[in-house]
Amino acid sequence: MIAIRSEREIGLIREANQIVAAVHDMLSGMVRPGVATIELDRAAEALIRERGAKPAFKGYRGFPATLCVSVDEEVVHGIPGKRVLREGELVSIDCGALYRGYYGDAAVTLPCGEVDEARLGLMRATSRALARAVAAARAGNFLRAVGRAVEGVCRPAGYGIVRDFVGHGIGTEMHEEPQILNFDSGENGPLLREGMVLAIEPMVNLGTHRVRVLRDGWTVVTADGKPSAHFEHTVAVRKDGGEILSQGSLLRWGLLDGVEDEACGPGAAGEKA
Ligand code: MG
Ligand code: MG
Repeated sequence: MIAIRSEREIGLIREANQIVAAVHDMLSGMVRPGVATIELDRAAEALIRERGAKPAFKGYRGFPATLCVSVDEEVVHGIPGKRVLREGELVSIDCGALYRGYYGDAAVTLPCGEVDEARLGLMRATSRALARAVAAARAGNFLRAVGRAVEGVCRPAGYGIVRDFVGHGIGTEMHEEPQILNFDSGENGPLLREGMVLAIEPMVNLGTHRVRVLRDGWTVVTADGKPSAHFEHTVAVRKDGGEILSQGSLLRWGLLDGVEDEACGPGAAGEKA
């Protein structure tokens, strides 16, 4: 069963997500060469608690931190620690917050200093893929349209779309039904209805889609050691596309950027239910 949330509930989910967005806004000013990933985590936890919320990841199945910080070849679930960021790396930051019984969850990939063209292209494509997926999260579409939207951006560009980890419904639990694939499984899946709330999160690799988990039991890395990017928004399904609940005021990602997206944006052939 996929929950249909009332406007009151969506309002509360938005509040939780706005705390997450504030964390990302803050961290966007902290990511630079020489910063240890644990410093980002401490700042994030302090801000979440200051806002009267709880870090949603800390303690989740034993995860030890507030953030997942995944650097370069790390895809997701990187544990913040002594690792010091270096010029040219991609830094993916995933953050969750629990506020008044509702969850927020969003992730962004930031460049550490100047990054090369390959990394920049990967970042941009993953963000664009999220934007198109959000637009496809429209009442009346099948869930399949979301994965197709990601695939439509990333596959032609030759990137590897991670298959082992997926997006999810979110609300009173961090992970609810449905699972949201970032590729076209060939099955329509459930029909999207207004009031469903989805965490859409493409994880996209410069090389192979294959990943493995490190011995710490958490950190997911690319099988070929090439960099990866991860963008995530919590989104409410609406009549005309997904409404992003986790958009911050400083750092904006996953928004359609106009003309170049027309052909694959909402209403593109084959994406209608
Ligand atoms: Mg997340
Ligand atoms: Mg998530």
